[in-house]
Amino acid sequence: MNAEVKAPEVINNFINGNFKPSTSNALDVLSPLDGSVIAAVPLSTYADLDEAVQAAKKAWKGWSAMTLKERSQYIFRYRNLLLRDRDQLSELVHRENGKTIEESRAEVDKSIELCEFACSMPQIVSHEVQEVSKGVECRIERKPLGVVASIAPFNFPNMVPNWTVPNALVLGNCVILKPSEVVPLSSLKIAELLKEAGLPDGVFSVINGGREIVEGICDHPDIKAVSFVGSTKVAKLVYVRATSHLKRCVALGGAKNHLIVLPDAHPEMTASNVVASMAGCAGQRCMAAAVMVGVDKVQHIIDRMCEEAHKLVPGQNLGSVISKEAKERIEGFINEAEKAGAKVLVDGRNTVVANKEGGFYVGPTIIDNVTPDMRIAKEEVFGPVISIIRAKDLDQAIEIENANPYGNAAAVFTQSGGVAKEVMERASAGMIGVNVGVPVPREPFPFGGWNDSKFGTCDITGKSSIEFWTQSKKTSVKWNPEAKINWMS
Ligand code: NAD
Repeated sequence: MNAEVKAPEVINNFINGNFKPSTSNALDVLSPLDGSVIAAVPLSTYADLDEAVQAAKKAWKGWSAMTLKERSQYIFRYRNLLLRDRDQLSELVHRENGKTIEESRAEVDKSIELCEFACSMPQIVSHEVQEVSKGVECRIERKPLGVVASIAPFNFPNMVPNWTVPNALVLGNCVILKPSEVVPLSSLKIAELLKEAGLPDGVFSVINGGREIVEGICDHPDIKAVSFVGSTKVAKLVYVRATSHLKRCVALGGAKNHLIVLPDAHPEMTASNVVASMAGCAGQRCMAAAVMVGVDKVQHIIDRMCEEAHKLVPGQNLGSVISKEAKERIEGFINEAEKAGAKVLVDGRNTVVANKEGGFYVGPTIIDNVTPDMRIAKEEVFGPVISIIRAKDLDQAIEIENANPYGNAAAVFTQSGGVAKEVMERASAGMIGVNVGVPVPREPFPFGGWNDSKFGTCDITGKSSIEFWTQSKKTSVKWNPEAKINWMS
């Protein structure tokens, strides 16, 4: 039987192994499912952050002295606790984020997979050694950085913290997590489970809050590295501020993913993939399809997409968007596109769900005759909305994709290997799908986009995270005094 785990009613920070209130002001946390207040989150201060950093500095000595194998055992236990509490964790994501319970379960399952990758670090991180001169060896070891921070967005309250926290911990760092103030509950649950897994006090902390804490993380002299996931506007601010303090930083931003659809694409598979990509998690995924570039004659596929979209029922198999403001922003994009001459084929505006009238719902929306100059074609909408831009040929379609400033993902739907290869080579994005609408690379492959979708050199997950969360130590060793003298002696 699963242990009954209740979400904390009063949100605290988690510092030095204890749940601690902040003396700061609190902000109401609303469930987007029905608009009800479910908690109050503290907007913590720099003093709260500093307390966590000082505890982490103290804990780091013992934590970094353990072997990789020892540290991975904590994450192994934590992974089993995620599995044990899968239902409650999914319910929490559903309640604070608004995605469907099935999507919430998939999110928690992804977190479990991320932990499994972190547990495999002892098998992956092997050091290099070579006899470079007779009797002299050079070796390279990966060493932890110290105290590091992870800043998360609202759209994956359980998964995004698990993108960074398990890897950074197993690799020997102490981690400060700053969740989105809109969805703080899942992160505190993560803290509870890491504590139950026996993690030493101070090794992991959660500091709630908003801008003040993010800026504090960038400025704090004892934080060595910062990972950020969120909008491009804030990703740029964080990257510039953190690196100006000579910190290592990877900052993932927003997206505008283009799916190029050719007339030879498999109609049913393409239609269901494109619609699932644009509407999954109510379109609030950085991997969501935002623009379909239809090459030549693809009306038969668009017709099927409309049929697929009509199968989505808000409040049932389509979740809510995060807030009233998000709903208004998304509907504003649709209104503006329609005024500019686009044709709304499936209209999700003014959606109200019975018995959840206070919730924030937008129905699936498909808009045809969008042109590249319209605002809806250029900016991130972050809702269950897809714009269709028509292209006369593949070259024009790729030019349209290349012209967008983001570069998280792009995909092509075709049965032609040659066409697929052309898009794989020429699309300006970090993650490419061939007949895959949400081309998220799974572990051990790393996650990360290009252009305005990511700032910094490393990716955030998979093998790339090893480079980000560690530094290399190069040692030259000579023990044999009889070894022949040469230039390396
Ligand atoms: P956001 O940028 O508003 O917030 C992200 C984090 O930054 C939060 O913790 C928030 O408290 C903090 N923040 C917000 N404004 C700030 C400011 N002015 N100064 C300092 N910190 C600030 O993003 P969001 O709305 O929570 O998340 C949605 C965005 O995240 C979308 O743009 C989405 O594409 C993006 N996202 C990207 C990826 C990716 O992998 N590239 C993954 C998930 C989400």
